[in-house]
Amino acid sequence: MKEKCIACEILRGDRSLPGGFIHQTELWSIEPCIGPFPVGTLILKPIRHVLNFSALNDNEISEFGELLQLVTKIIRELSDCDQTYICQWSHAGWEPVHIHFVVQPAWNDQKREFERPGPYLQHQLFEKQIFPDPEDIYNFVTKAKRYLRENEEKK
Ligand SMILES: [Zn+2]
Repeated sequence: MKEKCIACEILRGDRSLPGGFIHQTELWSIEPCIGPFPVGTLILKPIRHVLNFSALNDNEISEFGELLQLVTKIIRELSDCDQTYICQWSHAGWEPVHIHFVVQPAWNDQKREFERPGPYLQHQLFEKQIFPDPEDIYNFVTKAKRYLRENEEKK
């Protein structure tokens, strides 16, 4: 863990998340995104302070695929989106930072408000800097935790 890393600060509990963590293993954390993305956007990040995907170890990599798919399942189930975007930029001020996958719901209906999908949509969302209501994030996180509990019971 690094002192001045937002991802590590969240993991240490120095910064709070609306609703808290959705799911954690020893190696990975699933959390709500607090950036200017729609409610339902989630973060998958390694617990370890890792700055490049190529630096993940074998254990982290072996859990990664299943957890990334789990994140997309949560989002699809709870937000009824048409697509889930998966991005890992982790390049703040041209400095590599703690890697985190942003998994974002996208709806075909967004064409009413945005000209083009994909990175164009993301660019516009960032330009607008509209942050979701923390209460809405909290409610999504609560539903996501319930979804995981119910899925665990079905196994
Ligand atoms: Zn970190």
